Amino acid sequence: MSTVRYAVFGHPVSHSLSPRIHAAFARQTGVSLAYTAIDAAPHAFVAALDRFVGEGGKGANVTLPLKEAAFAICTRTSDRARRAGAVNTLSWNDGQWHGDNTDGIGLVRDLTGRNGLDLRGRRALMLGAGGAARGVAPALLDAGVSELIVVNRTPERADALIDAMGEPDRALSRYWQDLGDIGDFGLIVNATSAARGGEDFDLPFTLTTPRTLAVDLNYGEAAIPFLAWAKAAGCRDAVDGLGMLVEQAAEAFEAWHGTRPDSDTVYAALRGKDALLVTAD
Ligand code: NAP
Repeated sequence: MSTVRYAVFGHPVSHSLSPRIHAAFARQTGVSLAYTAIDAAPHAFVAALDRFVGEGGKGANVTLPLKEAAFAICTRTSDRARRAGAVNTLSWNDGQWHGDNTDGIGLVRDLTGRNGLDLRGRRALMLGAGGAARGVAPALLDAGVSELIVVNRTPERADALIDAMGEPDRALSRYWQDLGDIGDFGLIVNATSAARGGEDFDLPFTLTTPRTLAVDLNYGEAAIPFLAWAKAAGCRDAVDGLGMLVEQAAEAFEAWHGTRPDSDTVYAALRGKDALLVTAD
């Protein structure tokens, strides 16, 4: 019998911490698995998934830029994946892919649980409208933000995301060039990959107040420009995406293996408090 395999697909994907996180969860819970990172360009994604299934693949995480493509290949999808129009967790059941999106619940768990922050009633701004933004937007609305404004470099993608939310009174799009004229926010989420291209953030400080929570879905070096901007703007709280990464993984792990891992231990290890459990790249 072939080994039961799990993997994260992305392009690029070598930076992904998911193999380490799932390996740590598996050690904790006594689950036996092989979890690898598979680089697949968008045009080669479906063929790579087919090969993966042929080699015993049972489940996969999907990262940029493949989440919308992953949604398209699923026979069945969860409600939150449908609202997002994007899938980050695939399960191979009965010869079909079932798709879920754990990004939004992962972010909300990290902010409200680990960081003890209340999202209710906050006016929220989201920068970006890619696969991650699509997963996060419905979860922010469910968490009770008073309004959600989405701004994206390519405005049509922000419009499409907002249309998919179906809440025209609470969720709307604006143009990037109008960021100086749209007031201030209690929550600002950077869901762009801009920093991966080494680009600086040039956002107006008028977006913030001393009570603003700034969240970057990126972590590590890619989170430095936005979090530095938030600090310079005087935001009260600034959180990177490491906790979200661990929480979305815990959600996927539970769906695949039926057991909930202790995400706090793995989060602490990745933060460097316990270098023995998970060593740095
Ligand atoms: P994606 O689908 O490729 O979308 C990328 C987004 O970034 C798009 O909105 C894109 O705008 C925008 N963008 C790229 N370069 C930009 C620039 N120079 N200026 C302004 N906007 C720019 O990627 P994704 O899956 O949404 O991921 C976005 C980021 O979130 C990634 O860096 C990823 O690592 C991170 N992420 C973290 C977690 C976590 O668990 N912490 C989970 C998911 C994603 P256009 O539409 O105009 O191209």
